[in-house]
Amino acid sequence: MFNTLPQNINDFMDWTWDQIKPYTDDLVNRPLTAATIDAWLADWSQLQSLIAETYSRMQIRTTTHTNDEAGQNRLAGYAEHVIPQVSEVEQELIKKLLASGLEPDQFENPLQKMRVDAEIFRSENLPLETELQKLSIELNKLAGARVVDWDGEEMTMQQVMAKLTDQDRATRERAWKLSMERVIQDRAAFDGLWVKLLDLRTQMAKNAGFEDYRAYRWQQLKRFAYTPDDCKTFHAAIEEVVVPAASRINAKQKALLGVDTLHPWDAYWFFRVDPADAPPLKPFASIAELNNKIEAIFTKVDPELGGYYRIMRDEGLLDLESRKHKSGGAYMEEFPTTGRPFIFANSVGIHNDVTTLLHEGGHAFHAFETAHLPYYHLFSLGNIPMEFVEVGSMAMELLAAPYLTTDHGGFYTDSEAARARAEHLEGILLFWPYMAVVDAFQHWIYENPDAARDTDQCDAQWSELMRRYLPDIAWSGVEDTLAIYWRRQGHIAEMPFYYVEYGLAQLGAVQVWANALNDQAQAVKDYRRALSLGATATLPELFAAAGAKFAFDAATLREYVDLIERTLDELAAV
Ligand SMILES: [Zn+2]
Repeated sequence: MFNTLPQNINDFMDWTWDQIKPYTDDLVNRPLTAATIDAWLADWSQLQSLIAETYSRMQIRTTTHTNDEAGQNRLAGYAEHVIPQVSEVEQELIKKLLASGLEPDQFENPLQKMRVDAEIFRSENLPLETELQKLSIELNKLAGARVVDWDGEEMTMQQVMAKLTDQDRATRERAWKLSMERVIQDRAAFDGLWVKLLDLRTQMAKNAGFEDYRAYRWQQLKRFAYTPDDCKTFHAAIEEVVVPAASRINAKQKALLGVDTLHPWDAYWFFRVDPADAPPLKPFASIAELNNKIEAIFTKVDPELGGYYRIMRDEGLLDLESRKHKSGGAYMEEFPTTGRPFIFANSVGIHNDVTTLLHEGGHAFHAFETAHLPYYHLFSLGNIPMEFVEVGSMAMELLAAPYLTTDHGGFYTDSEAARARAEHLEGILLFWPYMAVVDAFQHWIYENPDAARDTDQCDAQWSELMRRYLPDIAWSGVEDTLAIYWRRQGHIAEMPFYYVEYGLAQLGAVQVWANALNDQAQAVKDYRRALSLGATATLPELFAAAGAKFAFDAATLREYVDLIERTLDELAAV
């Protein structure tokens, strides 16, 4: 152990790079042998934990106090004067570990990732990486500058899109068209950046010795457990099994709205317009009430998980209320020095606050469950495949669902809970086809890099995929808003191929839920054990431990789509 490193994070938060450097020098220079490796990894992990937690706490501070200028400067200073230096040393330490040929206990997966990173690393790609980041900033600037005029009031895209659930159809149509027209105005600027991004990515792949960007990106994303062909199998399975199920939901939506045609402003993959006679759910009136009820629900799922939530309450690890000078959104952050998680949210008393907290709660429990592992590389959620990390959170949303009613200590009457659960399950079915579009589109792009430089061809390909996977939406008269839409899906330009993770994780989550319907105690035990494996297991092993199959095929998907549809029928009868 580095005995001179502070044990308490508060004593480390002000450390400069000059103070940290002697410790990294020690790690770089210390002889690495079978006898010294455990202590070396422990010391590295201790330092990593302190630095990662410092950075997390600084980031949390800027999102919980957006008006704290000193906090923002502190974060910026750390990002500039500590993090890059640390990253450089980390590369050296990885090289040192790989060169040693030592294979520490439980380190198989981290070593595999390190080997791949070393194999695909090219120094000539570093300036290209910087160039990519600059383009990303330009894209964000474009998106951030988008406001529209709504009856003289300036509205952000989020504010306008929120009107898509308005009861008045004409208002929804206007919101759709206004927001999409604003994106269309940016077309030329976006497309210029897009071609530069594509060219840079192709070049980086070539520099690293890959024939195409997808093959390079696959390694970069550490997708060892599945191939591009598996993704295509998944798309085909979704088309065969989920698209018809989504159509049945859309048929109900049409009847509910009393319309013959579903325009994109009547129903879309991410929103449903509620029938006029259903007022929005009001699950809680205070944060205390939210906490009491959520804790009761977690306790019903598993008393120890309820206990974890109690710890978070007692130790001040929750910042849930919406208030001035707080950023939007919700997230979970880990505090690696203590193995504790922290949850940030913006709760205002709507149902979405409940699902968000259940989701982030699942992530938080993951952090609790991995805390026993010895090294940062093994317990940090960032080192666990995303495809499984999201099982932790998505499964919790489903495991908790039966306890949303007041008789279990939850929020709702039976009929309110049935409505909330139906919306959730419908959302799962509606998401898969859209996910298939986003993923299939990207496979097309990087299989046809020359065609993809022509954005008219991209538009045509996107439109075709959308019509195929979301066949119930009528685009006549607004074809231009269909063609432009892929530019609104930020992942496509900025985080290539990053999206299928959610679809795969969702299929894992519904399997955990199905197991719980048969035997909740056993299913939750398996779920918790899978979480506790951290980064010591492969993706298929993690799924298997959770009692699920890591799968892409239509037969597996059908089993769970059937379960979802049966449950929807049951809920409709409540
Ligand atoms: Zn998540």
